[in-house]
Amino acid sequence: MLDKIKQQVELIKNKGATYVDTRWYPFEESNSLTMWNGNLKESFFTRESGLGVRVLYKGAWGFSASSDVSNLEVIYDKALDNARVAAQRVTFPIRLAEKDAIQAHFTSPSRINPIDVPLVEKVAFLQEMDKKLDQPGVFQRAASLNFIHKQIVFVDSEGSEIEKEITEVFALLSLIGVDAQGETHERSFSLGQEGKASRGWESIDPQLFSENAERIVGELNQILVADPCPKDHRSVILLQDMMALQTHETIGHALELDRILGYELSYAGGSFVTLDDFGRLRYGSEKLTVRADATVPNSPGSFGYDDDGIQAQDNLLINKGILVGAITGRQMVEEANARARKQIFNGSSGANRATAFYRVPIERMTNINIDPGTDGNLDDIIANTERGLLMDNARSWSIGSNREQFHFATEIAWLVEDGQKKQVVKNPSYMGNTLEFYNSLSAVGDKTTWMVNFVANCGKGQPNQVMQLGHGIPICRFDNVRVGE
Ligand SMILES: [Zn+2]
Repeated sequence: MLDKIKQQVELIKNKGATYVDTRWYPFEESNSLTMWNGNLKESFFTRESGLGVRVLYKGAWGFSASSDVSNLEVIYDKALDNARVAAQRVTFPIRLAEKDAIQAHFTSPSRINPIDVPLVEKVAFLQEMDKKLDQPGVFQRAASLNFIHKQIVFVDSEGSEIEKEITEVFALLSLIGVDAQGETHERSFSLGQEGKASRGWESIDPQLFSENAERIVGELNQILVADPCPKDHRSVILLQDMMALQTHETIGHALELDRILGYELSYAGGSFVTLDDFGRLRYGSEKLTVRADATVPNSPGSFGYDDDGIQAQDNLLINKGILVGAITGRQMVEEANARARKQIFNGSSGANRATAFYRVPIERMTNINIDPGTDGNLDDIIANTERGLLMDNARSWSIGSNREQFHFATEIAWLVEDGQKKQVVKNPSYMGNTLEFYNSLSAVGDKTTWMVNFVANCGKGQPNQVMQLGHGIPICRFDNVRVGE
């Protein structure tokens, strides 16, 4: 098969294409299970395989994909035909940033392939969790598992040949309770890098999930009898799960270069960031350093090589508060440099990814991480907070269409008064303007508070591509934030 692919790549090149690549998926398997109030509500398994071809011809892309790989010539010719048609309507001829030819192999750190684990074992885990969640105060409960295992072979006309074997594991416990007024409240726990340091079935640690099941049941019961969240301005201390979503929505998506160039306007798809801002814009306080790091071990945002065939990198996005980088692929960096009439970006940052063989790669977050700070652990940060809210787990979110403002409700919040963590409050929320908010960042937790949160379902693109990624995040505190509205 590999020889046939290489032969076709060469043939299309000889027909006038300036670049050709192929992503061949020998297989992609996924398995999802949800137990809801003690019943196995969902259990599905999918398997697909096929091949996707991108052809660059006279500055235009053509794409074609098929699960039928018995006649490769048809798929490649179709991609070339599509590029030829598109070439008649080119407004900005596509160029690709230089890269090295790579021969490589990448495998996610995984010992036990979760797809191979018998169904009965997976259901037994969910039943065990369901029992732990089935407690007074809990109105609805759910436990779910989601696994992906895939092999991808990448071949391009510039001499690269990369084979990847990716394993993904996601797990979630969630609860709903109803208070005396009939209002619903939620608590949840999802697997992050406090589990085992690899991505196989072994990361589903029953003890870890049991402890957290007990914790969220207890917290839900505190919420049900809590007083409402105050409405005022105060500090907010965001725990890692909430801070991960904050980072995702108002740093990660805002710094995708296709969005900055105006290509991705659905799903609140614009960005307030402009090409002039790089190297100049003060995005946050000096305590804010953010990187796109695809080299983190054990994260869904670590994949070895992107779908342009670029090796995983660790790139600064925001350095001590100043915007310095973006999430980029080979195509967009060339267009951005050309439009800005100066070299803002020096090659691709290796973040072009597609979710399936039949989708084209677009700029996606890798692991968008915040560097740990020097403000101690959670206890230290609370002790140094006069009046605040300690918040975790997003319950609802709405974001400005250019990521310039946001409003988030969280599942839980505790009052912080005079350096002490006090009682839980009901229906907590906070809002702000992105730049004002990050400039009010006043404390960043140390390395002991840093945790990688796994994101199973980041949506982008049309047709939609649901991508997996990560956020390595410390505990963060912001001052003078509007809360409770
Ligand atoms: Zn997203």
